Amino acid sequence: MIAPLMQEAFHRTTSAGVWCVLMCVLWVSCVPYGMSGRQGRGADGIIVRVMIDKTSGGSVIDSERPMRIMYPNGMTATAVGPIVLDATSTVGKMLVEPGGRPLRYNGAPYRGSIEICQSEGKILVINRVTVREYLMSVVPGEIPSKWGREALKAQAVAARTYCYTHLYHAAGRRTLYDLSSTTDSQVYRGMNVETPETTEAVAATDGEILTYGDRPIVAYFHSTCGGKTSDAKFVWEHSDLPYLRSVECSYCAASPKFAWQTRLSREEVRSAFTRRYPTISSIKGITLKKKHGRVVAVSVRHSRGTIVLRGNEFRLLFQPDRIKSLMFSSRVSGRDLIITGYGWGHGVGMCQWGAKGMADRGFSYREILAHYYSGVSLSGAKTIQVAHSRERVKRR
Ligand SMILES: [Zn+2]
Repeated sequence: MIAPLMQEAFHRTTSAGVWCVLMCVLWVSCVPYGMSGRQGRGADGIIVRVMIDKTSGGSVIDSERPMRIMYPNGMTATAVGPIVLDATSTVGKMLVEPGGRPLRYNGAPYRGSIEICQSEGKILVINRVTVREYLMSVVPGEIPSKWGREALKAQAVAARTYCYTHLYHAAGRRTLYDLSSTTDSQVYRGMNVETPETTEAVAATDGEILTYGDRPIVAYFHSTCGGKTSDAKFVWEHSDLPYLRSVECSYCAASPKFAWQTRLSREEVRSAFTRRYPTISSIKGITLKKKHGRVVAVSVRHSRGTIVLRGNEFRLLFQPDRIKSLMFSSRVSGRDLIITGYGWGHGVGMCQWGAKGMADRGFSYREILAHYYSGVSLSGAKTIQVAHSRERVKRR
């Protein structure tokens, strides 16, 4: 998808000087890039593939230095100017490597290299970075860098565990990428968001992950639990995990999201339901069922019968800032529904504001993690990942 464009750009450069993409060198090398499996030092040195964009074209990769383009068949080229992606071309996948300065994608700098491939008429833009480099961007996106050092380290371990758990379960499957850069995985925005404090927390916990029974855990975390975390099974079906149990949390009261109230109009409730259940015309009543103070099920009586939703399904019918957590109660006021609640997020696993509170009171990151993840061990990722990384290099 790039080569024809480069040729076009070359002509444009020579004729009009508009673009400056040049294909300077083209030769066959011995090792196709996909088999090289570049690795840095230690467990966090393995490569993770993060999908940073799915574009129809027009996006630009550039750098302050000439970039090396590598094709799976071993051919390589050098680009000394911006590469403009074009989804209409049919050239297969390729890898763009930096030449001493970071690559930029649409102006934002990224560590590592960028892989381009096509899927369903779109261009997938995939950043290949080490787990360490990935975490340097993810951790500051998940927690304020000015929080206590032990809270940052706890977050680094939770984020690393999330990453390795995903890789562990995906091992052996053929996929175009490992993680997305959105809240579907963990928010990843490249180098622009990195801070010295969070980078230090990543380095201080290098290779450490949470395990249960010698496997990496599903390390869910959330903003504010509101006083008590939740069993995972009450939030998601098929998530009865022994280490994701409800625990008391007396550390997050300083969170601005600790207590909240929302007023939902009758029309807002009706339209939220009819988007999901178009046959519902009017709602006659709503009943909440709770466990550990959290809403686990919602019965909605309507003109044609009753439907029962999981509490989390009900919450997600509305915009994220309307029903902020499942720890809430409701009352009718005139034609409105008043929702009063505590906490923000699903309430499972580590409470981030609780981690901050614990760090401020002198707890270590190990004690913070042990509090929110029941019965887990802090292990080195190396043992798990050595076998895994070899497998991944083979299957690429
Ligand atoms: Zn909490």
